[in-house]
Amino acid sequence: MPEHDLVCFATRGFDSEPWSLDNYLSVGGYRAWQRVLDGELDRAAIIEQVKASGLRGRGGAGFPTGLKHSFMPREAPMQKYLVCNSDESEPGTCHDREILRLNPHSLIEGMAISAYAMGATVAYNYIRGEFIDEPVPRFEAALQEAYDAGWLGKDIRGSGIDVDIHTFVGAGAYICGEETGLLESLEGKPGKPRFKPPFPAQHGLYGAPTTINNTQSLASIPTIILKGPQWFVDVGVEGSSGTAIFSISGHVERPGNYELPLGIPFRKLLEIAGGMLGGRELKAVIPGGSSVPVMPAGNIIDATMDFDAIKAAGSSLGTGAVVVMDETTCMVGMLRRISRFYYAESCGQCTPCREGTGWLYRVLTRVMEGTGTHADLDMLVDVANKIEGHTICALGDAAAWPVQSFLKHFRHEFEYMIDHGGRSIVAAPDAAAA
Ligand code: SF4
Repeated sequence: MPEHDLVCFATRGFDSEPWSLDNYLSVGGYRAWQRVLDGELDRAAIIEQVKASGLRGRGGAGFPTGLKHSFMPREAPMQKYLVCNSDESEPGTCHDREILRLNPHSLIEGMAISAYAMGATVAYNYIRGEFIDEPVPRFEAALQEAYDAGWLGKDIRGSGIDVDIHTFVGAGAYICGEETGLLESLEGKPGKPRFKPPFPAQHGLYGAPTTINNTQSLASIPTIILKGPQWFVDVGVEGSSGTAIFSISGHVERPGNYELPLGIPFRKLLEIAGGMLGGRELKAVIPGGSSVPVMPAGNIIDATMDFDAIKAAGSSLGTGAVVVMDETTCMVGMLRRISRFYYAESCGQCTPCREGTGWLYRVLTRVMEGTGTHADLDMLVDVANKIEGHTICALGDAAAWPVQSFLKHFRHEFEYMIDHGGRSIVAAPDAAAA
């Protein structure tokens, strides 16, 4: 059992139907919402508590959630919306679907509290299309349970508070995880990100003020209200409060989702995941989903898993998706695979991303096919630099950062492949010594 209280996976210990309303109620579910309905906390007080908790968005950017909520013109006499981003698509990331499957009521309660705090009477949960088999029906069943039990709707439990929550299922496009692409999709249009400003807090869904939060961020809010912001602060470390769900994949003995306090040493995280697969050597880690810079083993092995420490060590905590690579990993092949993904998922709206991602993939392909040149490596960095910061949305940066970081730390592997007609350094007879 964990040595700390679980926040998003609070119902995980139940043998039978952890997602049920009864199980959620038995771990304190809906008590925070009841306090709000009873008038113990007004809108400003909720937002202050979330701010004081130090909760930072778990969707990738790490922006302070309470501050984001404060941007909403909550007293403005117009329709306002809360949108939950459950379009979890960042490669390596697989924890939000677990919240939908195992503890959907924590998300519903978090959405209800947050919607009320921001003056929104309507909220949507935008769920990734591929989750249609289990997470979507599980969430929708929980939503119905919440309505039937009187936790949602109009004049909830005689409080005078209205909150309605709807589900929207996407069609499986990575770009709809970008918040304005998501809003376009929710409006029934192609999911092409919008120019910003204006930002969604001023001009969001249907032109109305809108806040978009990640699933895990919203699911953390009931616990923050119930146990108090200081409890959440104390669980983590300075600048990174609370727990996070780390999706650990790759060359470990026990890949999976682990909810752990932020600030946990990377060595400990690796140990919890069973250590390196087959006892092999750690080579590199992508600490926050495929878009963040790769870290060589030496840069991460003594780091702690929190926003500031990982940034200081040269990468980003991103979505908390930790991809572990051992000594048998070909870094050229790995980068080519990542580049293929961003090339395929570019929405094509802006030239540096639409054309640049294709260039990255094609150049990496020719390096792997044995026809690349050393000049190609400089060109890869040049193309990545010209994409970074020059696009409408962050997908451009997501495509550029892996290229820049793989070449910064593992350029010798690319050079070896060019010099050996496409053979990987890990396939070399002297690979262990290389
Ligand atoms: Fe579309 Fe790429 Fe431009 Fe984003 S950066 S708007 S994904 S073309």
